[in-house]
Amino acid sequence: MADLNIPEAPDVPGATHLHSGKVRDLYVVDAGEHAGRLLMVASDRISAYDFVLDTTIPDKGEILTAMSLWWFEQLADLVPHHVVSTDVPAAVAGRAVICERLEMFPVECVARGYLTGSGLVDYRATGEVCGIALPDGLEDGSRLPEPIFTPATKAALGDHDENVSYDAVVATIGEADAEVLRQLTLAVYARAEGIAREQGIILADTKFEFGVRTDEVVVLADEVLTPDSSRFWPAAEWRPGRTQPSYDKQIVRNWLTSAESGWDRSSGQPPPPLPAHVVELTRAKYVEAYERLTGRTF
Ligand code: ATP
Ligand code: MG
Repeated sequence: MADLNIPEAPDVPGATHLHSGKVRDLYVVDAGEHAGRLLMVASDRISAYDFVLDTTIPDKGEILTAMSLWWFEQLADLVPHHVVSTDVPAAVAGRAVICERLEMFPVECVARGYLTGSGLVDYRATGEVCGIALPDGLEDGSRLPEPIFTPATKAALGDHDENVSYDAVVATIGEADAEVLRQLTLAVYARAEGIAREQGIILADTKFEFGVRTDEVVVLADEVLTPDSSRFWPAAEWRPGRTQPSYDKQIVRNWLTSAESGWDRSSGQPPPPLPAHVVELTRAKYVEAYERLTGRTF
């Protein structure tokens, strides 16, 4: 497990810290109308190659929070979502939401319309992804014959999620819930893929998390359809057979693996701080993705 380098979560008045991931800090609201609900705060942290970098990207938390909220609205007729309010403490204004506290399914619900990343690795080794056989001859970035549900189990912090078969999900949560998650994941992916495509963006793959309310209703949770949970590719530059340009950390990854950074990925050492031009370009990519998708100005 890598040294994650997650800084201590900042104090938020009126909320008690519960958990910090690589990028977000989770709190429970102490009192008042939202007592017991979750306060999910998106920081400006960025991770790459399983490290949280020492450098932050200004406004990243705010941009991704706005993007996730916009998507929840676009999807609201397909599936209920967990956001209750954006009226959050001033210290985290704009980059936090108050949400229902759900019982989460222990499944990362991934939909893929295109082959890359861990899906490509598995396909090259076995011809399958999560037990789903795919045609021969696919390359990095190939469009799949149809979108597929490729669940993963949530790894402990710092470990990679592990792709699992649909049958493994059935074994964990039962057939009825597994089928609901599979159908919702594919339905939400199809909707989002269509919306993104109209804006010239390919939604190559994405990860959702679902939970249940006490009344058993399944609810879309976590963050959705941001560059931290999804691969967005500019459609005009899509050419299978190579790593696709993307609206996320590609600038960061490219710089880290370039000679300029002086960093050796295999050394196990944390990456060096990012230079100002890499920070600015990365911020601009997040803004561009937000503005293109939503038609709004950040
Ligand atoms: P990583 O940085 O790898 O994502 P992580 O998943 O532990 O690590 P976060 O994503 O920041 O870190 O943590 C958010 C946590 O909150 C996750 O465990 C997620 O499943 C959980 N979660 C999201 N929405 C809800 C909700 N509505 N109710 C309860 N838990 C939720
Ligand atoms: Mg997470």
